[in-house]
Amino acid sequence: MYTYEFSYHKPKSVEEALTLFGEFDAPSFLSGGHTLIPTMKNRLAMPDALIDLRSIPDLQGIRRNGDRIEIGAATTHYETSTSDIVREAIPALAALAGSIADPQVRHVGTMGGSVANNDPSADYPSAVLSLGADVVTNQRVIPADEYFDGLFTTALEEGEIIQHFSFPIPESAGYAKLCSQASRYPVAGSFVSKFGDTVRVGVTGAGSDGVFRWTEAEEALSADFSAGALAGLLPDAEEMITDLNGSGEYRANLVAVVTRTAVEHQGTANVR
Ligand SMILES: Cc1cc2nc3c(=O)[nH]c(=O)nc-3n(C[C@H](O)[C@H](O)[C@H](O)COP(=O)(O)OP(=O)(O)OC[C@H]3O[C@@H](n4cnc5c(N)ncnc54)[C@H](O)[C@@H]3O)c2cc1C
Repeated sequence: MYTYEFSYHKPKSVEEALTLFGEFDAPSFLSGGHTLIPTMKNRLAMPDALIDLRSIPDLQGIRRNGDRIEIGAATTHYETSTSDIVREAIPALAALAGSIADPQVRHVGTMGGSVANNDPSADYPSAVLSLGADVVTNQRVIPADEYFDGLFTTALEEGEIIQHFSFPIPESAGYAKLCSQASRYPVAGSFVSKFGDTVRVGVTGAGSDGVFRWTEAEEALSADFSAGALAGLLPDAEEMITDLNGSGEYRANLVAVVTRTAVEHQGTANVR
């Protein structure tokens, strides 16, 4: 059996977490552990200290702040999906959270862990990018357009902690995805947000470089917000993932389908 020793810490403040982080050679922040623990089990990560962020008040809670909503990084998918504030302000975001995996995962996985990990198939990155959210850390405010940096890569620096996400409230938004029937991760998912005449489309699960904005669709939808405005539009199949779930051509077509569906079903998540 494979074993190795590491220490576990539960700081009560961001300052305490940062101090602990500086005391070890290879520490790692821990949120729900849904990605980190399997990664450790597979020997792909061997932190010498786990610094659990879930008891830090600054990383918790969901609140409305003027024309934005703020969601703490340690908020579970279940809390986001059932929040009256999120359901009222951005119902598609609540519905997206409720569409992640299964109840066990939703009660433990967190928005901060998901967005810090930036799995190319995760659901939240599409919403964060489409809504143009700010990623608020202990050091700075990172606009979504500057945050995602390719597969499992972000603008976060070593030891930087996401405290909360600040989402502008759109006029409307919708999410649609086709998921893997085994894992429930999207094979392709599209989050479409409308802010007046400006439309932003965040696509996950499909891009070989991770989550991306589909700018051609944004231009078409900004001129005419209807599924018909997307007729004939496809993202470049060469830039899509090819894997067991489908070829690049299949995924490019699927991106067009889920984006049209998201336009037609604003205010919810359409999951197949
Ligand atoms: C069976 C299963 C099915 C799943 N299905 C889906 C799905 O359908 N869709 C989907 O989107 N996701 C899915 N997930 C992912 C899951 O929902 C979690 O969001 C994801 O695994 C991140 O887990 P976590 O929040 O527990 O973070 P952790 O695993 O604790 O952390 C992940 C990474 O983020 C870092 N981190 C955590 N919090 C912060 C922070 N505040 N600041 C800086 N860095 C931080 C950690 O150091 C670590 O590197 C699935 C997971 C499992 C186990």
